[in-house]
Amino acid sequence: MTETFFPEKFADRTDTGGREIDPTQLAPARAWGAQRENGPIQPMVVERRALRPDDVAIDVLYCGVCHSDIHMVRGEWGAQAFPMVPGHEFVGRVTAVGKDVTRFVAGDFAGVGCMVDSCCTCDNCKAGLEQYCTTGATLTYASPDPRGPGQTMGGYSERIVVRDRFVIKIPDGADLATTAPLLCSGVTTYSPMQHWRLGSGQRFAVIGLGGLGHMALKLAVHRGAQATVFTTSAGKEKDAYAMGATDVVVWHPAANDPILQARELANRFDFVLSTIPSPYDLAPFLPLIHQDGAFVNVGAPGLISGVTGGALWDQRRSLVGSCIGGMPETQDLVDYCCANAIRPQIELIRPDQITQAYLRVENKDVRYRFVIRSCLRPQRARIARWRVPMPYGPARCIRR
Ligand code: NAP
Ligand code: ZN
Repeated sequence: MTETFFPEKFADRTDTGGREIDPTQLAPARAWGAQRENGPIQPMVVERRALRPDDVAIDVLYCGVCHSDIHMVRGEWGAQAFPMVPGHEFVGRVTAVGKDVTRFVAGDFAGVGCMVDSCCTCDNCKAGLEQYCTTGATLTYASPDPRGPGQTMGGYSERIVVRDRFVIKIPDGADLATTAPLLCSGVTTYSPMQHWRLGSGQRFAVIGLGGLGHMALKLAVHRGAQATVFTTSAGKEKDAYAMGATDVVVWHPAANDPILQARELANRFDFVLSTIPSPYDLAPFLPLIHQDGAFVNVGAPGLISGVTGGALWDQRRSLVGSCIGGMPETQDLVDYCCANAIRPQIELIRPDQITQAYLRVENKDVRYRFVIRSCLRPQRARIARWRVPMPYGPARCIRR
């Protein structure tokens, strides 16, 4: 079976589709992306900048598919510039480093999440909260790139060049395919648990058992919390219990009584985490929050309705949000998950299956994160000393 997922015309890496490039500054890389809003995910060629002194060049080996990728390609978060190469949770192998880089050498395994740059000088950046950079962090894709050509292009690609501060070290022995989703879905759910100190014995609930939600469940269970899952998919009940849930509630957002058990669950939860990817009505959930408890939204940034002042007065409830995690926290999370074998449940796909995978995510049919297997050709993978069991078994990080 061939593992070259690029049609013949893209096998020549100098084919840039007619665009002009300066060969002394930029190098083409094969990628998969959308040429237009809502378009299919197709092969294309992007340019990667030449190494700067603080840059790390990475061959991408595994890249997760986040629902944010789908929102972006669909134009659900406003008009975007196309072509777009999504992908903001990936791991790969370092191939070269700039002269000032001390944390990595060629051959190391490395990960990249949702950001590739920020001002690094504002108070938030100094505190390791680069995601809240006051001038705006540079996102891994679809962001104007202060260091490269045009806008950033993400991890659905064979190669990327990233500023070293925004590169995560992957611990020796880590399972690489299941480490990739930690870079977004893992840290996005871990960060609020750290900030609002979710602890042992507390009553936790997650709404939505998808990519973020199932990571939240696993992390909360590992912290010793009693975890309840609110799902709209009765078929996920068994999986939720297998991942450690103490209770599963099947709820019906469009019904007059969305949560049939609302009365018995009143004032129950210390911490509710919503991963719902579309605008929703909060009214059914606020009464379920315990005194001084928090409702944390990490789901879609659109309209959340149904909030009354009184529902927040009552029990001194907090309604808050949280955005991914900073670089130190992302490293902590990756180290923590690898040390404790907290792994996402993934489905490995080839790049030519991404378009179909998007539809399955939208139909709540992913179990529970799609991960795209390397765009590299097999000989390059061999050079990187990869054990890649066929057909799509996990590969492990091998100590050099
Ligand atoms: P996902 O894999 O699609 O999971 C979302 C889950 O929510 C679905 O599996 C489904 O679970 C439930 N759901 C879907 N549509 C629903 C609806 N209309 N009403 C109620 N429940 C619904 O998505 P994801 O990758 O986990 O991402 C979730 C959201 O977080 C996305 O909007 C993404 O953009 C956002 N996000 C935010 C951050 C951040 O920094 N805050 C970071 C990454 C992603 P059930 O079948 O169990 O109901
Ligand atoms: Zn994401």
